Amino acid sequence: MAVDKTTILIVEDEPAIAELVTFTVREAGWNSYVVHTAGEAWEFMQRRTPHMVLLDWMLPDQTGLRLLSRIRTDRQLHELPVIMLTAKSMEEDKIAGLDNGADDYITKPFSPRELTSRIKALLRRKTPEHAEQLMTAGLVTLDPVSCSVMLDGQKIDIGHAEYKLLKFFMAHPERVFSRSQLLDKVWGDHVVIEERTVDVHVLRLRKALKEADSLIRTVRSVGYMLSEK
Ligand code: CA
Repeated sequence: MAVDKTTILIVEDEPAIAELVTFTVREAGWNSYVVHTAGEAWEFMQRRTPHMVLLDWMLPDQTGLRLLSRIRTDRQLHELPVIMLTAKSMEEDKIAGLDNGADDYITKPFSPRELTSRIKALLRRKTPEHAEQLMTAGLVTLDPVSCSVMLDGQKIDIGHAEYKLLKFFMAHPERVFSRSQLLDKVWGDHVVIEERTVDVHVLRLRKALKEADSLIRTVRSVGYMLSEK
């Protein structure tokens, strides 16, 4: 089963820094994409939503801060984790960045280790489904590292889409999601799948979970949720 790698978009116009950040991100095992302007970054995000953006403050076409505001007011992108990268170390600028919705802030020059640990911390905070710890719900245990699912200690057969769906549910227990939210969060936005496809995968997931199938509840006219209650 393929592992869904965390994708990080790097928006940085200085080649040396872009290279260092790319190297750091890849070394840590994440996918990276580099763009050099705010315009390119925006274009990228219209096609594909990354898991995180590392955003330089000073870009050739507009400020990173401006792009950040645009992200925060966009219906699809507003929750995207963003770390600002900047040479500015002034307290006022830091406050401006955080006020505009940056999740974190790293001042250049930074060490690869510092960057990696900030990214990890933010991913843990913002996207629990990317955590690497074992997740459990009732008799079901999911291991994100080996991408396997155990039922009462026994490994079960589960398809890729059902695995992703289960992982998402386990990261957000006791919360109802509509079909379109699930499409968005599990399959990624911009993906053209019909909403009833979600029903098919939920059915398959329940089948894979055997006697634990009641974990996945249908919430009439709303959607689905994972509940142990
Ligand atoms: Ca710059």
